[in-house]
Amino acid sequence: ESLEINTGSKKYPVMIGEHAVSLLGDYLGQLSFTKLLIITDKNVEKICLPILLGNLRSYHPCVFTAPAGEQAKSIDTYYEAMTSALENGLDRKSIIIALGGGAIGDLAGFVAATYMRGIRFIQVPTTILAHDSSVGGKTGINHRLAKNMIGAFHQPEAVFYDLSFLKSLPSEEVRSGFAEVVKHGLIGDPSFYRWLKSNIQDLGNISIGQYETMLAMGIGVKASIVAKDVMETGIRAFLNFGHTLGHAIEAEMGYGKVTHGEAVMIGMLFALEASKSEAGLEFDLESFRAWVEKLGFSASIPYGIEPVGLLKRMKQDKKAVGGTVKFVFLEEIGKPSLRDIDDSRLESLLNNFLLSKK
Ligand code: NAD
Ligand code: ZN
Repeated sequence: ESLEINTGSKKYPVMIGEHAVSLLGDYLGQLSFTKLLIITDKNVEKICLPILLGNLRSYHPCVFTAPAGEQAKSIDTYYEAMTSALENGLDRKSIIIALGGGAIGDLAGFVAATYMRGIRFIQVPTTILAHDSSVGGKTGINHRLAKNMIGAFHQPEAVFYDLSFLKSLPSEEVRSGFAEVVKHGLIGDPSFYRWLKSNIQDLGNISIGQYETMLAMGIGVKASIVAKDVMETGIRAFLNFGHTLGHAIEAEMGYGKVTHGEAVMIGMLFALEASKSEAGLEFDLESFRAWVEKLGFSASIPYGIEPVGLLKRMKQDKKAVGGTVKFVFLEEIGKPSLRDIDDSRLESLLNNFLLSKK
């Protein structure tokens, strides 16, 4: 499967398939470049790097290995990656390859965006979540005080999504990424959502063909939204569906205690319930809840997390403008709308959500 992303200023291909990286060598052969630097992490280095290197041997790539997880997005790791780029003599005509999940894509993309004021990079995603992060051009690292606060928009040259890499993904990472797939169905495409709900019943047993379908559809939804709003001034905010509460849960629990997707799934359940009362959504929430619980998601806010703290976090969300929370509702499946929601309304919706689960 291959797609094309069009951001207005830039077009780039997304190749999705069981052995997509076998096409990368030929693709690179058509580009003119000096050096290649692969940025990966400690886990992916063991599992996926040998296969990638096998395909790129003739280019003699250099490799920088970051710590796994959010540690990859620290200022220190960023600085070390820059050191590696300098020591290996990368110049303006060099290319960086991001081999890993969203954390590596964000780090490598930001290194590429800032090294010598910007060089080219290619995304080779190895997680399901990275179907979301590898397209769209947002790159960045974390500040000690807040996630993703240091960054740049920098689009990749291409995305090579090799589905054979997904086999080794731990189950909680599959679940985390799948939440974003569901999000793309809900906000972008009712038939895609229905396909997911009727075809995916066991996250441990997804075929390569099913992955190909769902990742291509998910990327298609993301791409069509990004194409209309590259710099996130308007409808790109629809991608934040489920994230207002999801981010608040992640922050309240402490990053790493719950995966991003698991927090977002709870946030989507909340947003769906709120959409029924505020935005006229007609939706069988019980059947949705039963489906996601069967897939292993938790449908309620973790025990011990208090609404007061969540509300405070939601108001601090970087997408809140002037203190008012901008919340993504669904009017229908595939039809999101962004509306201001005042504090007292948000509080009562959150209390209802907490009550409905007790
Ligand atoms: P990740 O990159 O940290 O990967 C999760 C874990 O899986 C890591 O431990 C990693 O080593 C391991 N892993 C990766 N591929 C593997 C494989 N094939 N087999 C076995 N293990 C593997 O995280 P993620 O969930 O992919 O992405 C989360 C990050 O993405 C966050 O930092 C988030 O902020 C960012 N993000 C960015 C965007 C964007 O638009 N730029 C969008 C969404 C999320
Ligand atoms: Zn997300």
